[in-house]
Amino acid sequence: MANLVMTRPVQNLTILGSTGSIGVSTLDVVARHPQQFQVFALTARQSVEDLAKQCQQFHPRYAVLGSQEAAERLRAMVADVEVLWGEEALAYVAAHENADTVMAAIVGAAGLLPTLAAVKAGKKVLLANKEALVMAGQLFMDVVAESQATLLPIDSEHNAIFQCLPADYSGQKEAGVRRLLLSASGGPFRTTPLADLAAMTPDQACAHPNWAMGRKISVDSATMMNKGLELIEASWLFAVNASDIDIVIHPQSIIHSLVEYNDGSVLAQLGNPDMRTPIAHALAWPHRIESGVSSLDLIAIAQLNFEAPDEQRFPALRLARAAAESRGDAPTALNAANEVAVEAFLTEAIGFTRIAEVVDTVMQTWRAGEPRDLGAVQEADQRARAMARQAISD
Ligand code: NAD
Ligand code: MG
Repeated sequence: MANLVMTRPVQNLTILGSTGSIGVSTLDVVARHPQQFQVFALTARQSVEDLAKQCQQFHPRYAVLGSQEAAERLRAMVADVEVLWGEEALAYVAAHENADTVMAAIVGAAGLLPTLAAVKAGKKVLLANKEALVMAGQLFMDVVAESQATLLPIDSEHNAIFQCLPADYSGQKEAGVRRLLLSASGGPFRTTPLADLAAMTPDQACAHPNWAMGRKISVDSATMMNKGLELIEASWLFAVNASDIDIVIHPQSIIHSLVEYNDGSVLAQLGNPDMRTPIAHALAWPHRIESGVSSLDLIAIAQLNFEAPDEQRFPALRLARAAAESRGDAPTALNAANEVAVEAFLTEAIGFTRIAEVVDTVMQTWRAGEPRDLGAVQEADQRARAMARQAISD
């Protein structure tokens, strides 16, 4: 019998954005399986103290920070870790020959280059950083196809869909998929009176009822731009037209998403709302490991509710769907404008309802193009950011 228990090779792991919400959850899962995972590199923008503690616990070979000043502070705090800084260093640890698996958990467009570097190098890439895929869509997927990288979704909805698709999934038609159903909690403002939305503060927007997340994605959940970005993300990951992806509000966040087949079967993935489940799933795939997440208590939950999303309350959904349908660099512009508007909201330069208005203003005048290369994607990103900043100051 002993021979039936195969030992799996140790996975060397780079975590891009290890001090964030996803990064910390990833290390929580990794710490439960010291025989299976070794931390190769950890990165953060500026959280030197947090990164130092992670280095002391996980002993990576490399640690990367966003600035020289931060790197020097970390060097004084840790021994036996090579401390690097800057964008090139991020790409270096993502593509390094000794890294097997890369968790892409930097937030926003800043994650694009290191995530692409990991994909180009043919790594097993665990994709949390949805903005990278939204902004570079076709290009990103072309690199995945060329490099034969293994791309596994961490976003709970996409991870759920991945689990509900056949293991040999090669496309919607071949698999007999009628549509995808992306579930959405509706965020903290699902039932807030519409007239009160404009006055909502960053702390109110970040108080998500079911999930504890970084501030940018929390605001995106409050506007539901997060679900819009996820619609675009799903259409790339699973090669499904946006028109075949529906969004359903499910306030309990127990069903993480569903796949409907053309025989009428609907498969769903359920679990407690805890990102350690999709993280453990992707880390161990195609096997299963303990994640630390408690058992689902359906009796205690008792009810699962569903409702249609309200586009008047959540105009970001309409904007994202339009961008998903026009493709090209429209999603790039949508993502860039949204990042600028969310940052302005978090620093209290604009009110909550202005976020979608700023994105709308940019999208109304955006002349969509077909970005041929990464330079064109970055140019579109910068142009949309400038337009959003202009809309904010008008
Ligand atoms: P977070 O803000 O908690 O953490 C972000 C991490 O990225 C931190 O380690 C930070 O130091 C680093 N970082 C930020 N800006 C950087 C920059 N310019 N350069 C280099 N590093 C930088 O964010 P999060 O909630 O962990 O989300 C990370 C990504 O995962 C996002 O793209 C988000 O949409 C996605 N995601 C998160 C959740 C969740 O539950 N938190 C769920 C699904 C998807
Ligand atoms: Mg999600």
